[in-house]
Amino acid sequence: MNFRDLQKQYEVLKPEVDKAINDVLTSARFISGPQVKVLEEKLAEYVGVKHCITCANGTDAITLALMAWNVGEGDAVFVPDFTFFSSGECPAFSGATPIFVDVNERTFNIDADKLEQAIEKVLQEGVLKPKAVIAVDLFGLPADYEKIGHICAKYNLYLMEDGAQGFGGSINGKMACSFGDISTTSFFPAKPLGCYGDGGAVFTDNDEWAELIRSFAVHGKNGSDKYDNCRIGMNSRLDTIQAAVLIPKLQAFADYELVNVNKAAQLYSKKLADSGLVLPYVPNGYVSSWAQYTVQLPDNTDRDKLIVYLKENGVPSMVYYARPMHKQGAFENTRSAVAECGITERLCGTVLSLPMHPYLESEDIEKVCNCILEFLNNE
Ligand SMILES: *Cc1c(COP(=O)(O)O)cnc(C)c1O
Repeated sequence: MNFRDLQKQYEVLKPEVDKAINDVLTSARFISGPQVKVLEEKLAEYVGVKHCITCANGTDAITLALMAWNVGEGDAVFVPDFTFFSSGECPAFSGATPIFVDVNERTFNIDADKLEQAIEKVLQEGVLKPKAVIAVDLFGLPADYEKIGHICAKYNLYLMEDGAQGFGGSINGKMACSFGDISTTSFFPAKPLGCYGDGGAVFTDNDEWAELIRSFAVHGKNGSDKYDNCRIGMNSRLDTIQAAVLIPKLQAFADYELVNVNKAAQLYSKKLADSGLVLPYVPNGYVSSWAQYTVQLPDNTDRDKLIVYLKENGVPSMVYYARPMHKQGAFENTRSAVAECGITERLCGTVLSLPMHPYLESEDIEKVCNCILEFLNNE
């Protein structure tokens, strides 16, 4: 059993994917081939936003958005404490100061009330200027954009949606990657929609930011001329082979993969209903894209021992994430290390992510659940 079965997915999609790659090889248009624009149009339509700009990875996508907003030294950017490193790395890389905010223990996403407290605290300190919020759709579940949006409006902050794990999720039919003033995603192979290498995208309805991001992503080019450089940018393009691979993968994602991961999640939650574990929670009207199916173990459970037990029985599992952002060594002795994030600290010790992907068989899910139940009963 694989944690995320990319081999199985390739087996199923092989004819379309092989043809897509071969077409690029034949045309030899490896950078900025026509498939890139086709994909951008399909992604923008799927998400329901005006502009999609693809780029080299999900980390660059966040950095490009921060560049468009001119975020830098002296700015505070509010980021959940429980997330992948990029969400806080990018604002720090831009020269700004990430301020880490605790998360909701049911949704794993940024806690809107604590966000407001953190903003007030930064204002009181009077050193940094609150500039933006990066909300993360952790494990595939969109953050609480209604509340977060109100807070951003109240304090005049930009809202970014880091949808690296959220692509395909939705709230009342509105798709993830459409909730931020600018939203970003990643096509890292193991993400809900992955390519066969690194890839990412930025989404926005704002014409001016879209144009800026297109420029920043290609050496600060002036319009369509990459040898006329009017600003300092980076080299962050999605290459044509990755775009070509993503076109049939997006189709499969929209046709059945998203449905299948939701079925898998339902089966997990049914089998584990009486296990004593805290199961993932999806609020009313929300749809998750199940980047991860993450349970919380009772405080007294020996997680390492459970991981070994599962492994011995052929069941892979992962800990996302073992360390709060504010405790990462990179932020030691900075303002970013100052955070009150008790929920995140507890989650880091109790979470466990189980195998999850669109090709997971119900027998596999039963096996995972039975192993967990056996372990808990014998503890
Ligand atoms: C994976 C991930 C990223 C970074 O994406 P890459 O394509 O790996 O650069 C950013 N934020 C979150 C929440 C992620 O999970």
